[in-house]
Amino acid sequence: MQTNKLLITGGAGFIGGNFVQYMINKYPQYSIYNLDLLTYVGDLTKHRQIGKRENYHFVKADITDRQTIMTLFEKETFDYVVHFAAESHVDRSITDPERFVRTNVLGTQVLLDAAKQIGVKKFIHVSTDEVYGELSFDPNTFFTEETPLQPNSPYSASKAASDLLVRAYYETFGLPINITRCSNNYGPFHFPEKLIPLTISRVLNDEKVPVYGDGKNIRDWLHVLDHCAAIDLVLHNGVNGEVYNVGGRNERTNLQVVKTIIHSLGKSEDLIEFVPDRLGHDKRYAIDPAKLETLGWKPTYTFDTGISQTIDWYKKNKWWWKPLIERK
Ligand code: NAD
Repeated sequence: MQTNKLLITGGAGFIGGNFVQYMINKYPQYSIYNLDLLTYVGDLTKHRQIGKRENYHFVKADITDRQTIMTLFEKETFDYVVHFAAESHVDRSITDPERFVRTNVLGTQVLLDAAKQIGVKKFIHVSTDEVYGELSFDPNTFFTEETPLQPNSPYSASKAASDLLVRAYYETFGLPINITRCSNNYGPFHFPEKLIPLTISRVLNDEKVPVYGDGKNIRDWLHVLDHCAAIDLVLHNGVNGEVYNVGGRNERTNLQVVKTIIHSLGKSEDLIEFVPDRLGHDKRYAIDPAKLETLGWKPTYTFDTGISQTIDWYKKNKWWWKPLIERK
C-alpha cells in the first residue's frame, strides 16, 4: 500500500500536537513524523496514547540546524510538510526578539531549502492573523487575504518575514506551498501561559487572573480542532501558492473571555486583576474566512460550545497542565 510520509514540525506544541493526533487518527495509513526541539513549551506527555504506534515517529531536532534537517529530509523523503514550529508568545518576543528571528525566519528558510531539495508535494506554512497588524473596533472590518502585512510585535514581524520567504519559494522555485493565517486558537493541550488556559488554571486554583489594560482588546477565537480540519483541507485541496485565512467568527473582548470562564466555574469576578497593558497591544483582530469556506470548511464549534468543552478538559486533565506550571 502507498503510504504518504508527513512531517509535522512543532508537533510537541499546542496546535501542532493536536494536529499530530488529528492526522494519526484520521489517516492511519500515513507515516507521521513529529519534529520538535522540545523548548520550554514542547511536551510529549500529550502523546502518551499514540507514542507507541508504528506509524508515529518523533525526531528531536532544531529547525535552524541545517545539516541535521537536510540529512533527515534526504533520508526520509517526506511527501508533505506542515510547519508549526515557532516561538509563539508575543510577550517573550518583546523581551527576546532575536530568538524569534532565529527560529521563525531562519528556521523556516532551512525547511524551505530542504523541501525544495527533495521536491515535496506540499509545504504548508502555519502563520497568524497578527501579520496583518490591528483592526479598529468597527465591527464591519475584517482581515482578508488581500490585507497588507503590517505586523506590530517582534513575534508578528518574524512570522510575516517567514510568510514572505515561503511565498518567494513558490514564485522563484515553484515549491508547492500554502500559507494559512489563523486567529487565536484555544482548546486542549494549550500551554498555561496563554490567556484561556492561564485563566482556567488560575480560577481553578482560586488565584488572581491578570487582564492587560482595560481588557477591551478583541480577539477572534478558533477551536484548535476546527483549525486542524482547516489545515487538513488545505493540505489536500489547497491551490498551490494561495494564502487561506482561518477564523472562527467568534469575536470576544479579553474581559468577556475571562468573565465567561469565571462564571462557568462558579467563582467571583474579584479574581480579576487589571495589570499594565502589553507594549504595542493590538486593539482588535478579526478574520474573514470566506475564501477557505469556498473549499468546504466551516467551524463546528461556537465559542460557547468550545469554551465549555475546553474548561471541562482542563478540569479533567490536571495531570497534563499542573507539572507544566511547576516547571515553567
Ligand atoms: P507552541 O508555542 O505551543 O508550540 C511551538 C512548538 O515549536 C513547541 O513544541 C516548540 O518546542 C517547537 N519549537 C520551537 N522552536 C523550535 C525549533 N527551533 N526547532 C524545532 N521545534 C521548535 O505554538 P502553537 O500555539 O502550537 O502555534 C503553532 C503555530 O501556529 C506557530 O507557528 C504560531 O505562530 C501559529 N499560530 C498560533 C496561534 C495560537 O493561537 N496559538 C495563532 C495563530 C498562529
